[in-house]
Amino acid sequence: MRLTTVGTSGSFAGPDSPASCHLVQVGADVSPDGRAWNVVLDLGNGALGALQRHVDPLALDAVLLSHLHPDHFVDVCGLYVYLRYHPGAGAERGTHRAPLPVLGPDDVAARVAQAYGLGPDEDMSAQLDLRPYAGTFDVGPLRVEPVPMYHPVPAFGLRVTGPSTVRPGERATLAYTGDTDYCENVVGLARDVDLLLCEAAFHEGRDDLVEPGIHLTGRRAGRVAREAGARRLVLTHVPPWNDRAATAAEAAGEYAGPLEVATSGATYTV
Ligand SMILES: [Zn+2]
Ligand SMILES: [Zn+2]
Repeated sequence: MRLTTVGTSGSFAGPDSPASCHLVQVGADVSPDGRAWNVVLDLGNGALGALQRHVDPLALDAVLLSHLHPDHFVDVCGLYVYLRYHPGAGAERGTHRAPLPVLGPDDVAARVAQAYGLGPDEDMSAQLDLRPYAGTFDVGPLRVEPVPMYHPVPAFGLRVTGPSTVRPGERATLAYTGDTDYCENVVGLARDVDLLLCEAAFHEGRDDLVEPGIHLTGRRAGRVAREAGARRLVLTHVPPWNDRAATAAEAAGEYAGPLEVATSGATYTV
């Protein structure tokens, strides 16, 4: 599996990165069915643009949304336009592509329609197969487990297991927290993973008075990685107003393994 951190900016797009979006790919060389698979975790504002540097949107197999805050889902609207009106492959041209699975919390279909401003006589179902999570599921060779997180709206972390690229013949696991504060579930989500992609939107001290149940700090992210036994920690969802070095230092105070703060376009193989 290869992970590309397409959008790493927290809560809104920054000068150097769109909001949350991460591409998980299984190469044809390691995929049991001999074809490549492309799955997107979140599609926040601005992310559909940068995503096109890494994959053709027509080649996506699924979009998995952690939750329905705009910085995690709103570019699904742009993806709908892409799939509907693409001059070569759009549904408006009479092509018959299978609708793209887009999974998220219970109200995902209504929220995407609302964000787009869908008219009463319009219907997205020819382009998007909008579905709520209902337990563990497979996308090709990937097994995905959505785990409820601790955030002001229904939110899921995503634990993804698939063919390892660095250990041929074996399976590897990565976990993506989406948005969450510290909780038992996020430690379970990250248990023994090869890579933990963990949000770290807050700073120790500066954000201590914010109510609990919103975001992790770098320190709390490091605690999750340590308690879970994660083999590698990549910090994301860092707003432009944060000090990235301080975020990394907070995490390093809790977690002794390899860690870094994600940048847009960085890739990791597991
Ligand atoms: Zn967010
Ligand atoms: Zn959020």
